[in-house]
Parts: sequence; structure tokens; C-alpha cells
Amino acid sequence: MVAIKDLAAKVQELMHKPTQIRNIGTCAHIDHGKTTLSDNLLAGAGLISEELAGQIQALDYDPQEKARGITINAANVSMIHVDDKGNEYLINLIDTPGHVDFGGEVTRAMRVIDCAIVLVDAVESIMPQTETVLRQALREGVKPVLFINKVDRLIKELKLPPEKILERFTSIILQVNKLIKALAPPQFKEAWQVSAQGGTVCFGSAKHRWALSLPYMKKKNFTLKQVVEAYQTDEWMRLGRQIPLHEAVLDMIVAHAPNPIEAQKYRIPIIWHGEEESEAGKALLSCDPNGPAIFVVTKVIVDPQAGEIFTGRLFSGQIAKGTELILNTAKTREKVQQVFIYKGASRIPIETAICGNIIGVVGLKSASSGETCSSIEMTPFEAIKHLFEPVVTKAIEPKNPKDLPKLIEVLKDIAKQDPTIAVTINEETGENLISGLGELHLEIWEYRIIHDHNLDIVVSPPIVVYRETVKQGAGPAEGKSPNRHNKLYVTVKPLEEGVATAIKEGKIPEMKIKKRKKEIEDALVEAGLDKDEARKVVDIYKGNILIDNTRGIVHIGEIMEMVITAFEEICSAGPMCKEPCFGLKVILDDAKLHEDAIHRTPAQMIPCMRQAITNAMLLGGVVLFEPKQIIRIDIPSEYLNETTKLVSGRRGELLDIVQEELTAVVKAKVPVAEMFGFTAALRSATSGRGAWFLVDQIFEKLPSDLQSPTILKLREKKGLPKELPKPIFD
Ligand code: GDP
Repeated sequence: MVAIKDLAAKVQELMHKPTQIRNIGTCAHIDHGKTTLSDNLLAGAGLISEELAGQIQALDYDPQEKARGITINAANVSMIHVDDKGNEYLINLIDTPGHVDFGGEVTRAMRVIDCAIVLVDAVESIMPQTETVLRQALREGVKPVLFINKVDRLIKELKLPPEKILERFTSIILQVNKLIKALAPPQFKEAWQVSAQGGTVCFGSAKHRWALSLPYMKKKNFTLKQVVEAYQTDEWMRLGRQIPLHEAVLDMIVAHAPNPIEAQKYRIPIIWHGEEESEAGKALLSCDPNGPAIFVVTKVIVDPQAGEIFTGRLFSGQIAKGTELILNTAKTREKVQQVFIYKGASRIPIETAICGNIIGVVGLKSASSGETCSSIEMTPFEAIKHLFEPVVTKAIEPKNPKDLPKLIEVLKDIAKQDPTIAVTINEETGENLISGLGELHLEIWEYRIIHDHNLDIVVSPPIVVYRETVKQGAGPAEGKSPNRHNKLYVTVKPLEEGVATAIKEGKIPEMKIKKRKKEIEDALVEAGLDKDEARKVVDIYKGNILIDNTRGIVHIGEIMEMVITAFEEICSAGPMCKEPCFGLKVILDDAKLHEDAIHRTPAQMIPCMRQAITNAMLLGGVVLFEPKQIIRIDIPSEYLNETTKLVSGRRGELLDIVQEELTAVVKAKVPVAEMFGFTAALRSATSGRGAWFLVDQIFEKLPSDLQSPTILKLREKKGLPKELPKPIFD
């Protein structure tokens, strides 16, 4: 155990030895034991007393999390582990939420870690979120190791003999490896396969605080049979001392998790798409303490005392109080006021932080999650890609109108803290909208607004966010600038499905492309885009692409930024109902521009491009797509009938039914519009014994008979004229 008072000094010493640093996190389905496991690790590293670990959940410090029993915030803690040879290691651990409504939070946590402990409940085995979070980890180039938890239940409740327990382990390992093979970056599909022999698998009981791996069994001369006997003779309490979980797991981590120097070499090309030969590129790839300071924010917490705390990873250089950083997306410069490391919910202030570590910083006022803050100007890191988009919106207003300014402030803060929340503030009409991934996600934030900020609010019933897209290709259609001196010609076509999917899956980054990039061109062609078009893509935005197909237009470079702005505006609010667009391939075919720049200002060119896109879309025909959720429903078999009825009554489609002895698992696809109140309905249909999980989110065409009524309803809600828009060519 490391005494707490020595911790700050020890951490500061180890921060400077990158080969002795490991940045790790856990990923798992809800309730598989992440919080309990993290507490155990913390107890082992001496930050909370051993008796308390397992009883209190140090990481679940948010009272709301406790009430709901879900880990919502990714908290950061730093710990120390000493291996057999007496080497000390600094372990930065991020606790990630498992509930898929908070997928955004999981992805951001993955950005800063190099190794993920994939936690699987031995009784439940692989569940939908195990797969989702593992996919997120692998997409960010994070190496997995496996922890099979709740083994005590296999012994005590299921009374399995050692052979049967081993069989179950083998089956879990096989399933996890199948996922790794399918989802890992190509060069790691084999290398990252987990195996007991290789030492990348641990099993144990986080609740009873013991664990074993093959190497640890040898080290301790301990067998699974002895564990089974300990339970049979009711002496299992001793296991936590004989084979303590933190030792087995942290031994595995220091042996198999890459240190930041090793990890940044292969992770930087995955998560950063700047020039590898530039000053920033070289420093990032080598995790250079003498390079420019490069810090990526992954979480913003508002602390009552310290104010806003920006947590993230320092990928290069050093940061101290007074360091000036450029916020590359916000385009501001800010001064660092304080630097911290983490310890459970509390922080230890330090003088200087060095690269390779996860730290907290105060003072970067305009930064939001995902921001790249650096001492030199540089290409920002890849936008953090979230698996799911906000598809449910509520209008929100204060009970007392005089609280409106405060509510607006709070909403802006929320959007900063949680990028999977979208907030639209209309200061004129006073209508403020908050969009999230589902009902629960919005309810959590409502609770926080009410309790943390003492605001009484009124919210509308939830409504669905649709997508606008084109039925068929049309164009070139003309758009004129208000001064009539400029004309743009645009064709809009449905985007190739393969390209849309590759963007959704993050295989193609969403970004403006100022200089031709071979990797992006290749990825676009591989996904099905024409080679010539791939060369000319200038912007990829919210699942849409913009192609500049003009030739020899003298001033085109000067207006491109405005053309892109107009394109992005239409993508965010389409021409039919102002819903976001997706699946558009917008091609700028030709341009007739006034010679004099004074006649092609943004006030002229943005409306001009907007009109050209709008005309082409209306000519091709705009249709609405609706979000659907693929869900998994777990129920006792006797409720199968009730459950399938519930799904089909909500325009749902049954995809698969697997029936085991007593339980049944139903996979279904249900429109989000029909999902409101589903939790309560399922509960009452199954006497409270059914549970459901989100597996995936997709958009599908709204049935024809619902198109017109939905379009009219949306237009009415948004105060748009009843008459549908028509192309304007005067
Ligand atoms: P999380 O949602 O993944 O953070 O899961 P928690 O750590 O909150 O654990 C969920 C529940 O499982 C709690 O009631 C824990 O006490 C229990 N639990 C965690 N680990 C074990 C274990 O090894 N054995 C048993 N029997 N229960 C466990």
C-alpha cells in the first residue's frame, strides 16, 4: 500500500517515466461490475481503505448516479502498482459508463486510454453493450484485455465444477476474440487476440476481491480448484488476501498494456490525420516531452469550487500554470491556471504535467470536449465519432420566466459537457430545445438542471428528430445571389450507401478537405465512390458530402469557404422541414462569378449556394427518414407472447427470437417515434421482469402514408408555412 500523503510526490516522480505509465479504462455492459472492479483497483493502490472498497463505490460519486445505480461520468483516478521486480508504475484509470445512452462519454474516454479491460459477467456472458463499447475501443486503437467477473456466482449459485467453469471461460474468450477479429484495426486482428496462456485473461470476483490469471496462478501457486474449495468450505473471505484482485489485474496491465510511447506510435495515425512529418506530428508519434504541448480535452466538468475543469490527455510536451495554449477549433488562446491529477473524485494540484498522462486543467474557457489545445497551431485531432446521434428532442423552459437567462447558461454548459446532447437556443422566440439519444438520456439532464442548478423547468413531451434526404438525383439546378451577379449550379444525388455507412462507422472522417488526402480518397473509393469524384470532395459533414466539380473558374478558391458554409447549413436544417439532412451527394457543377470580390461576399454567396442546393433537392423530391432502434429484450419465456405483441403494436419488426430454458431473448427493430414509454409498457407486460437494451440506431424511410402528415406536422411545429416549398428559378 502506498500511503496517501506520499502519493502526490510519487505520482509526480513517475509522471516523468513514460515507460512506467499505463493509461487504462474498463468497458462493459451495465451491471457487469465495472465500478466494483475499479474500487478494488483503487483500494489496492492505497487510495481508499481496503475495507471500504466493495462497500462504497468511490467512482460513483455523483449522487444522481447512485440513485440510478448507473455510472454516468467517466471519472479519472491515478494509482500506483509495484511489480515483482520492485518496478513502480503509474496507472491512470478512467471509469467509463456502460449504458449505451451515454455512448458519447464512452468514446471520449477511449480517446485517452491505450488499453481497455473488457469486463464480462461470467453468468450473463457477452451482452449488447459489451460489443458496443468494445467496438468503440477498437475503433480508437485501444488494446483489449479480458476480465471474466462474478465467478463466485458460477460456483455458489450455479454450482458448476471446475471443468464446467473452464468451459464457460473458453466460450467467453472465443466470443470476445471473434469480436476482436471482426473489429480491430487490420494490423492487430491477430496480435490482440486475448488468451489465458498469453496472460491477457483474468477471471475472478470483483465483489469478493479476488482474481487469477494463468501467470498469477503460477506466481501464487494457486488453482481454480482451491477457489472452488474455498467457497465450498465457506472460507472464501480469505481469497481477497491470498489472491487479491488488484495484484492479478495490475500485473496483467503492466505486462500487456502498452506504455504511452509504444501506444502513440500506432494510435496517432488512427486518431489524428495531420502531417506526420510536421513538428506536431513528430512530437505526437514519439510522445516527446520536449515537443510542443498538445492536450486533447475529453471531458468538461463544472466544479463548484474550481469552476470548469478540462480533463484529457497530454499527448506531447508539458503544461504548467501559465502555459498559453491555442484552442485549434475554437480559435482562441487561453492561459492554464491550474494543473491536476486525479484521485477518485478529488484532485491533487501539481506544478507541471508531462506528456503521456491523463490530467485535469483549469482555465481553457472556450474549450469543449474533443478540443485540441496546443502551444503551436496544428491540425486538430479527429472529431470524436459517436456511435449514435441525438434523435429525441424536448422543448424546455423555466417555470419562472425570469430564470430564462440562467437556463440558457445552463443549457450552453450542458452542450459543452456532453457532445451527444444538442441544444438549440432561440433567444427571440424563447423556445429552447434539447436533443439527446433517448428518453433516459434527456431525463438525466433534466434531473441535473432541477437539482444541481436549482431551476424549476417545464419540458414538452419528447419528439423525434427525422432526417431529410432526396428520392432521386436532380440538377444541375441554378441558384442566384441576391444581387443577381453570381450563379451557382448544383446537382444533388443520393449518396452511395457504402459511403454513407463508412462515414457512420467512422472509416471515413467527417472534415473539410483543404488539401488532397490519399487515405481519405482511397477510403471513399473503397466505400463505392467514383474515383474522379473522390478526388474532388471538399467537405464531409453529418453523413453528407460536397464535391467541387467545377473546372477553370478563376475565383472559385475565394468562395469555397462560403459554399461549404451554405452546404453545412442545409445539412443541419433541410429545405422541407428544417430537419437535418443525410445521405446527400451535393455536386457543385459550375459557377458564374462576378469579377469583383466586393460583389461576392458571404451575404451574396451563402444564399446563392443555399438556393442552388434547395432547388436541386426539391426537383429530386425530398423524403423523410425516421430513426429506428435495434433493441434486445430479455424476458422470462412465459412473457414471449406479450412481448412480441408489444413490439408489433409499435410498428416494430421482430428480427430474431432465441429461447433458452427459462428465458427468451427478442431482437427487434422499432421506430423511435414508437419507443416513448416503452420501458413502462414492457414492465407492465412482463410483471416487471423484462429488460431491454439499445443495440444499434439506424434511419429508414418513413412509410409513404406517414410522409405527408409528418411533414405537415413538423412544419406547423416550426412555424413554417403550410404550403410546401417549391424550387425558385426566377
Ligand atoms: P457496473 O454497472 O458495471 O459499474 O456494475 P457494478 O460494479 O455497479 O456492479 C453491479 C452489481 O453487481 C452490484 O450489485 C455489485 O455488487 C454486483 N457485483 C459486482 N461484481 C460482482 C461479483 O464479482 N460477484 C457478484 N456476485 N456480484 C458482483
